[in-house]
Amino acid sequence: MGRRGLLAAMAALLAGAAGAGPVLSVARGRTRLVLPLAHRAPWRLSAALDPPRLLLDLPEAPKGWPARQPGRGLVARLEQRRHDGGHRLAILLARPVALPVTRVSRHGLTIELAPGPASGFAPIADGRSLAAAAAQPRRTLPLVVLDPGHGGKDPGAIGVRGTQEKRITLAAALELKRQLEARGGCRVLLTRSRDVFIPLGQRIELARQREAALFLSLHADSAPGARGASVYTLSETATDRFSAALARRENAADQRGGLRLPSVPPEVQRILLSLMRQETRSGSEQLARLAVAALGGEVPLLPHTHRRAGFVVLKAPDVPSALVEMGFLSHPGDEAALNRPEHRRKLATALAETVTAYLATRRTTLAMLG
Ligand SMILES: [Zn+2]
Repeated sequence: MGRRGLLAAMAALLAGAAGAGPVLSVARGRTRLVLPLAHRAPWRLSAALDPPRLLLDLPEAPKGWPARQPGRGLVARLEQRRHDGGHRLAILLARPVALPVTRVSRHGLTIELAPGPASGFAPIADGRSLAAAAAQPRRTLPLVVLDPGHGGKDPGAIGVRGTQEKRITLAAALELKRQLEARGGCRVLLTRSRDVFIPLGQRIELARQREAALFLSLHADSAPGARGASVYTLSETATDRFSAALARRENAADQRGGLRLPSVPPEVQRILLSLMRQETRSGSEQLARLAVAALGGEVPLLPHTHRRAGFVVLKAPDVPSALVEMGFLSHPGDEAALNRPEHRRKLATALAETVTAYLATRRTTLAMLG
């Protein structure tokens, strides 16, 4: 059982215990329906007219879902009953919707609804399958999300000779991606592969939505007198004032962008969140330990190399995350090194080893649990 499978199993257990059924939420004119389903549960979604409704067919009745449930937003109400040897949830619509967007995640099946014209709804309401999941989804390699810090209008730290942090982080992330892909064993996605501004919340959401196995944010800091690489994991209370100040500087990137962070989805139950956080925290700590060990063999380190601070970009509750400060642009020696491709290759080699070792140990832990 993979980590996601484990979390989905916990979610299903908790949902069963709490009798949790479908959860509706409304934001910006759209309606989101989250249906707690077992991770590999097959389903099929279709639409019908008179009255306009979406139909979700399942092989059996999900535990704890109420027979009828009042609606919100674009959903008038939910009704479920036995149908054709299986089970059917009717999502009665308050008004016609555009083609629904479906997404399977650890929460179950999410159906996103946006208003649409009646003339657009009629053609899809003919019983055809709009989306479906078979019982056995194909196995895919774990996804590693690399996050080159800053970008666009946010240059990050500026070196003594004018080096912009955003350029160093992108060059290092591209090199790390290249090395990881050459090793195989994982898929790699960058939060940005160009010089663009991406809000911190969006970087996290990308990793969460794609169910990343891990999230690694790359930075190069600035602080008087300091040099060497360091690794950070999330803490509500920073280990020292230096770390707290660093987190404030990095988090300020979002204010510069003038954008707010998305809030944690309300449908996530508190208890599940706390279990996920525990699991995520232990993963993040392990990731950081491996990174410190691997980097130590390759590049100079900042004393007390593993630190904890309140970085926004490390706050995904369900994706183990670490932030690597690859060195200090404020130190002439570090700045010169970070500008050299050969030095960035060494950093990337150490971090590729970190990722490979992390994915291998997590596989072993989960094999023991599962
Ligand atoms: Zn930075």
